[in-house]
Amino acid sequence: MACREHDHRRCLELSRRISAYLDGELDASERRAVEEHLAACLACACCAATLKRTVELCRRAAPQPLPEPFARRLDGLLARLLAAPRVPKSRPRRG
Ligand SMILES: [Zn+2]
Repeated sequence: MACREHDHRRCLELSRRISAYLDGELDASERRAVEEHLAACLACACCAATLKRTVELCRRAAPQPLPEPFARRLDGLLARLLAAPRVPKSRPRRG
């Protein structure tokens, strides 16, 4: 898309720092590096904007209890998932 000249190998590195960036935990040079990346990389800019908005919404929202039937189903599903044996990736060969 719009950022062909951009080195996307740095996106992974940025994704590890984006939360600290949004929380104001980076020093000035780290912050500048993140901002330069966001200015050049549409994908990371979208991720950062989405994360920022999500954090804002979560901070504003008061915790709500789940409806009882949904909570029961979720508990059952989690219990099944945690108890399920791990599925082997490939079957052992026979013969
Ligand atoms: Zn990026």
